[in-house]
Amino acid sequence: MKIRELLNHDKVSFSCEIFPPKKDRDFSEVFNVVDQISELGADYISVTYGAGGSTSKKTVEVASYIQKKRQTTALAHLTCIDSTSEQIREQLTELKKNGIENIMALRGDKPVDFTGPAHYNYAIELIRDIHDSGDFCVGAACYPEGHVECAHKREDIAHLKEKVDAGVDFLTTQMFFDNNLFYKFLYQTLAAGITVPIVPGIMPIINARQVKRSTELSGSTMPTRFLTIADKFSDDPLSMEQAGIAYATDQIIDLIANGVKYIHLYTMNRPRTAEKILSNLSHIIR
Ligand code: FAD
Repeated sequence: MKIRELLNHDKVSFSCEIFPPKKDRDFSEVFNVVDQISELGADYISVTYGAGGSTSKKTVEVASYIQKKRQTTALAHLTCIDSTSEQIREQLTELKKNGIENIMALRGDKPVDFTGPAHYNYAIELIRDIHDSGDFCVGAACYPEGHVECAHKREDIAHLKEKVDAGVDFLTTQMFFDNNLFYKFLYQTLAAGITVPIVPGIMPIINARQVKRSTELSGSTMPTRFLTIADKFSDDPLSMEQAGIAYATDQIIDLIANGVKYIHLYTMNRPRTAEKILSNLSHIIR
C-alpha cells in the first residue's frame, strides 16, 4: 500500500524504523526484529540505507521481507550523494521488482573525504529521477531545527518547499526532544505553503551512549528536563531505559493531544522499546 493512503486515515498511524544487517549472517536477527514490530501492528516499517552503498542491497532485501513475508507496508530509504544515475536506476529497478512502492528519498551525508563533483547534489534531483522511473510514493526528510548545513532556517524551509513541489507525498522529521520546536516548524512550513503530512520522528533515548550519540549526530536540542533525567539515570541502565521510554511516551501523548495523527518511532532494531511505548499508549493509539 502507498503510505500517502495510510496517512490519509483518521486513526493515528504509527511506524517504526529499522536498519539492515551489516553482515549477511545477521539477516535472521533483523527478520526477527521485523516479525516483532509487525506483530505490534505497525502501519509501515522503514529500512535505512547505508551510505556508500554499504548496505544498499540489504535494504531492498529487508524491505522485501517486510512486504512479502509480513504483508506489512515497507518504506525503503535511498540516498544519492555517492551514486551515479545509472546506479540509482538499478536500485529503482530492484525496488520495483520486489514490489516496494514507497521510497524515502534522501541525499545522504557527504562522506568526510568528499571533494565532489557529485552526480547528485540534493535530494530533489533524486526525487525527480524516482518519478521518472515509476509510480512510487515518495517520502523525504525535514528538520524542525533546520538542517546542519543550512545557515538560515528560512532558506532551509524554502529548499524544503522546492523539494516537496518536485513530488513528495509526505515528510518525516529528524528526531526532536522538545515538541514546541515541532509545533513551530508546522506553522513555518504551513506558512511556506507545504501541505503534505509531516510525520514526527520520536527517538526514545534509553541508554547513556545514545544521549551522547544523538546530540552529536542530529544536533537536536536537548531540553533541560531531558538533560536532568539523563544526568540522574544514565549510570543506571534499567532506570535510564524506563525514564527514556516514559519521556518518549510523554512526547507522543502531547503530540496526539495536539491533533498530530502520525508517529514514527526511531526504535531502530529494539522492538522491545517499541512494545513498551505502545503498551503505554494502548488506549490512545488504538
Ligand atoms: P536535502 O534535502 O538535499 O538537503 C540537504 C541540505 O541542502 C539542506 O541544508 C538543504 O537546505 C540544502 N539544500 C537543498 N536544496 C538546495 C539548493 N537547491 N541549494 C542550496 N542548498 C540546498 N541518511 C542515510 O545515509 N541513510 C538513511 O537511511 C537516512 N535516513 C534518514 C531519515 C530521516 C527521516 C532523516 C531526517 C534523515 C535521514 N538520513 C539518512 C540523513 C540524511 O541523509 C542527512 O540529513 C543529509 O545530510 C541530508 O539529506 P536530505 O535528503 O535531507 O538532503
